[in-house]
Amino acid sequence: MKIVFLGTNGWYDTPTGNTICTLLETNDFYLVLDAGNGIYKLEEYLDNSKKPIYLFLSHFHLDHIEGLHILNKFSFDNTLHIYGQPGTRKILNNIINQPYTVSFPGLPFEVHLHEIETGIHHLPFRVECKFLPHASPCFGYRFEIDEKVITYCTDTGPHKNVEELARNSNLLITECSLKIGESYPGWPHLNPFDAVKIAIKAKAKTLALTHFDANIYRSIEERLESKESMKKLFENLIYAHDGMEIVI
Ligand SMILES: [Zn+2]
Ligand SMILES: [Zn+2]
Repeated sequence: MKIVFLGTNGWYDTPTGNTICTLLETNDFYLVLDAGNGIYKLEEYLDNSKKPIYLFLSHFHLDHIEGLHILNKFSFDNTLHIYGQPGTRKILNNIINQPYTVSFPGLPFEVHLHEIETGIHHLPFRVECKFLPHASPCFGYRFEIDEKVITYCTDTGPHKNVEELARNSNLLITECSLKIGESYPGWPHLNPFDAVKIAIKAKAKTLALTHFDANIYRSIEERLESKESMKKLFENLIYAHDGMEIVI
């Protein structure tokens, strides 16, 4: 399975990166995680646009959904299925609509909006979702696809739900908004050490950090400052950047 980091910034775009969006290319479908501005690069990677596309949204902070306003540039041959927490339909139909942008019915392909509750769901793949601690209700996801477990948790503070979703996962993709020593309890996020601790506790095989706060991490070099010390604690550690591809 190929994973492409299309956008790896939190909050806003900078020359270092676009806001958060990640693509997983599986045998039978494409899975897109969040719809920040990095989503515009999607068409470079969709070789077989006949595969269904599943887009999972963590929450509705704009850095996770702002890319939805450019959906009308795509010409997907298949339905775009958008999944999110209860309330997704009302929120998205408000924002992805006039006077802001083209509405879903106006797009050149079909869009289905699906609201899912916490718990386990059997779609064409198994997915489990739990709420994560954040400034606005946010879902974390555990996907089981092609005999691999991929966990996606951003935005979040340290919490047992992240650990539970990440238990024995092949890949934990989580956020790294803060620098070591930083925390903002009123608006929870992770720093690299928080993320590594979670990966160790959960016995994840690989940890990929993304969603680097654009105002805190102003360059790729700044993102990598903690890499050496963190890799001593957790060897299979990836600091994502826009355009990075990994295979698990
Ligand atoms: Zn965010
Ligand atoms: Zn957020």
